[in-house]
Amino acid sequence: MRSPREVERDMQPIRRVCVYCGSSAAVAPRFRQAVSELGRALAEAGIAVIYGGGRVGLMGLLADAALAVGGTVTGIIPAHLTAGEAAHQGLTELVVVDSLHARKREMAARADAFAVLPGGIGTLDETFEILSWKQLALHRKPILILDAAGYWAPLRALLDHVVTHGFARPQTLDLVRIVADVSALMTALAEVPASLTSPVTDRL
Ligand code: AMP
Repeated sequence: MRSPREVERDMQPIRRVCVYCGSSAAVAPRFRQAVSELGRALAEAGIAVIYGGGRVGLMGLLADAALAVGGTVTGIIPAHLTAGEAAHQGLTELVVVDSLHARKREMAARADAFAVLPGGIGTLDETFEILSWKQLALHRKPILILDAAGYWAPLRALLDHVVTHGFARPQTLDLVRIVADVSALMTALAEVPASLTSPVTDRL
């Protein structure tokens, strides 16, 4: 039996979205546009952005786009990357942690949902970790993959491949939702059932 306080928390809509995206600046304009569009859309919807805290690549564009329209942006960065990824000094909040593991844990714990944008190895690592935690029922938070310009088609194929060969159950594919553009992502966030944003069962 849940307490009234827990029921009330259960009713809350998505307020904070953790965005995973690339730190490389050497990527095509179509990917840069998608991340800027998302930053702006989240801020305009009153949804706070949680991300890795860097100023470089898509990460920096995301933060700048949200901040430009008055959004709230929290960056979480390990101390050893503050120079390499150039910690963004204009954020609403910059949290410096002591390791990549602490960063991932902190980002996940603070978020109501996750958005995966085009990125590299770090983005893949973050995506698979949050997906595997969901598969193990450690959380129920929505994971939305923004397939900007078809970038994530190979990821979709890989997940199908894993299921086809019996290494994951078909239901695993239901743990993520792949959306084609920012507008579809924002619609998906608005449609998330309140029960799925509940922190009650989360063990992140
Ligand atoms: P990338 O997609 O490789 O450009 O990396 C995106 C972000 O993921 C960057 O902030 C990286 O610092 C971060 N990252 C890279 N490897 C890891 C890891 N093993 N765990 C957590 N974050 C990582």
